[in-house]
Amino acid sequence: MLNALGFKVRKYHMNEGHSSLLALELLKQNSLDPNKVKELCIFTTHTPVEAGHDKFDYGLVGDLIQDKNDVEILRKYGGQNYFDTSIFAMNLSNYINGVTKRHSQISSALYPGYKIHAITNGVHSYTWTSPYFRKLYDRYLPDWENEPELLIRVGEIPDTELWEAHWNAKRNLIDEVNKKTGIGMDYDTLTIGFSRRMTSYKRPTLILSDLEMLRNINKRGKIQLIFAGKAHPNDEAGKQIIRDIYKVMKTLRDEIKIAFLENYNMDLAAKMVSGVDVWLNTPNCPYEASGTSGMKAAHNGVVNLSVLDGWWIEGWIEDVTGWSIGPKPDEKISIEETRLAELKDLYYKLYYIVVPMYYEQQDEWFKLINNSIGMIASYFNSHRMMRYYVTEAYL
Ligand SMILES: *Cc1c(COP(=O)(O)O)cnc(C)c1O
Repeated sequence: MLNALGFKVRKYHMNEGHSSLLALELLKQNSLDPNKVKELCIFTTHTPVEAGHDKFDYGLVGDLIQDKNDVEILRKYGGQNYFDTSIFAMNLSNYINGVTKRHSQISSALYPGYKIHAITNGVHSYTWTSPYFRKLYDRYLPDWENEPELLIRVGEIPDTELWEAHWNAKRNLIDEVNKKTGIGMDYDTLTIGFSRRMTSYKRPTLILSDLEMLRNINKRGKIQLIFAGKAHPNDEAGKQIIRDIYKVMKTLRDEIKIAFLENYNMDLAAKMVSGVDVWLNTPNCPYEASGTSGMKAAHNGVVNLSVLDGWWIEGWIEDVTGWSIGPKPDEKISIEETRLAELKDLYYKLYYIVVPMYYEQQDEWFKLINNSIGMIASYFNSHRMMRYYVTEAYL
């Protein structure tokens, strides 16, 4: 189609195996020479989960792609026993990468024998910065939207103005929560946010594991929780997670305000990642290839509290850019021990560090806001990411 439209494409960038039949067409256009096709192709994997890589029975492949010669080509580069779309793409690409350093390690173990590079994801700074912060950055760091590295100079912006921008974004979100749910959240309470696809490996309900702990934290200093997210229609476990959140919401009704916002989309995500105080991330390691919502939060001075997986391994400096939950990525401990360590960290840090700092050490909180912008947003943005793709993969 691109050829027919007259584009002269120099490189084809395949994202996930879904796109890999492109390489079949390129083989046919290049006298079946794999080296010519490899020169043209780049492959990026986005999932460290084995089941996330599409594999198809050759019977089905034969039914769908009627040309016997095509099926034989797929078999030659895509696996003898079944057609693995990722393998097919990797065998026909000169450059292969994962989306964080950690994800590249995990992918290398999943697909031994392939050199899998790392290009860490980033988010588009302007898109994910709230109007309140955009105005501030415009004034103090002009042209930041085209050169997000400038955010490293966030120190130019007075803390009071950063706080005011955050306050406005928070008010905007809380107003929306109250309008939609009638729950009556307030602007002063430490607000913890979690919005993602509702699916098991993301563990949205980890923080709801021990309600007694939550009650204790809430006595130390008031907290409120906002969740948002959709489950895939076929993901029964994902739908159950939403029911579980509603159940806890009822149980804690008179103690801790919890809201669940429906119809999660980019507009709601933008409000969530800018309007809470703390961005919570608790996936099962090592299944979060990158995760990007925490990068969005950082662009708005929202502080990350996250397990050490995906991008956070590269963004995290304890007490400087935010907080970790659970073991370091290379710690060799059992699944049970990991879960205990995660719960302990999560509740311990909320009780002893996050809540007291929010209510009693505002200067310390301002440092975290500054560092989220200056040390995270200045790096974890798509301008930096694209430069890496161009210099490492495309040229
Ligand atoms: C950013 C975003 C995501 C991805 O967030 P993760 O942290 O990677 O899970 C998903 N959906 C929407 C609407 C988003 O804005």
